[in-house]
Amino acid sequence: MAKDYYAILGVERNASIEDIKKAYRQLALKYHPDKNQGDKASEEKFKEITEAYAILSDETKRAKYDQFGYVNENDFDFNTSSFDDIFAYVNDMFGDLFGNFGSRSSNRYHQRRKGEDIQYQMVISFKEAIFGASKEIEISYQKVCDECNGLGAKPQDFETCDYCKGRGQVEYGNFFISMRKICPKCGGSGRIITKKCSKCNAKGFVIEKEKISIKIPRGVDNGYAIKISSKGNESIDKIRGDLIIYFKVLPDEIFRREGLNIYLDLNISIPQAVLGDEIEVDTIWGKKKVSVEPGTQSGSQILLKGEGVEIEGAKGSQIINVNVEIPKKLTQKQKQLMEEFANEMNQSLQQGQEKNIFKRFFGQ
Ligand SMILES: [Zn+2]
Ligand SMILES: [Zn+2]
Repeated sequence: MAKDYYAILGVERNASIEDIKKAYRQLALKYHPDKNQGDKASEEKFKEITEAYAILSDETKRAKYDQFGYVNENDFDFNTSSFDDIFAYVNDMFGDLFGNFGSRSSNRYHQRRKGEDIQYQMVISFKEAIFGASKEIEISYQKVCDECNGLGAKPQDFETCDYCKGRGQVEYGNFFISMRKICPKCGGSGRIITKKCSKCNAKGFVIEKEKISIKIPRGVDNGYAIKISSKGNESIDKIRGDLIIYFKVLPDEIFRREGLNIYLDLNISIPQAVLGDEIEVDTIWGKKKVSVEPGTQSGSQILLKGEGVEIEGAKGSQIINVNVEIPKKLTQKQKQLMEEFANEMNQSLQQGQEKNIFKRFFGQ
């Protein structure tokens, strides 16, 4: 036997969508599970009005219902749904119909919600970022107050908001236009606290401290983050969010890093640049011998393959930027030798030029 949805909501058959909404809202607030905890009859009534509203507020379904006097079970299947599912459906479908009243309830009757994540910036050294490390940190997180279960007051310390009469919304406007807004006195919950929870001062949560061991993975860099599950703030359902740790890597005195590659500046003397040398340089893996080829130019680079950062088998290089140091002061002997060197250079340069001129004129 088909149900009379119009009668259930107490509206005329030609009622506008606004009238239907209004009627449902009033009934829903009356039979709302928050107000009738454990009352089976209210629960049944709430299901019934929600079913009626779901059909009549949907143009297609309403038209079908008007024509045939029923809707397919596929269109609306309440018989097999649990009450929690129905409530979730109401909140998903009608959004802010209840204002905060509904959304708070959805926390409780909808899927159990996770708490907020906590973001934490961890400052680590250059070497810790490359080689990984273990550290202990202390975080502060929000834990649901066990005195008031996160509600801000004990159940007996609430009363219906006198400003909105428990509706959670107030109407305002003039003769022509009427609008609704969330009740400024109760913030939309329809209830006000008469006696604040003394433990949390009506905040609903307390701040707890916790020590957590963190394993910094090898190869992290600035902006990298790791997630530590279930170490964030606690939700009203007592499920904790996650702890997200962002790394800030301090610069090193001698090395610079770009991805997997390590850069190092190296000063060499004029004789080393000219004659070549074998020298020892620092790498992140320790000291390494490097050959400076004869005739090395200032600004050239020496590549040490495989001496960079290693992440999961991939290894970068160390790149050495060579700078030939030009002495600003010379001893008398050095100056004399440099002058001799310069003369020698000039001579060979002139000879070279003469050769070039000869070449140019005679093609030889
Ligand atoms: Zn209010
Ligand atoms: Zn409390």
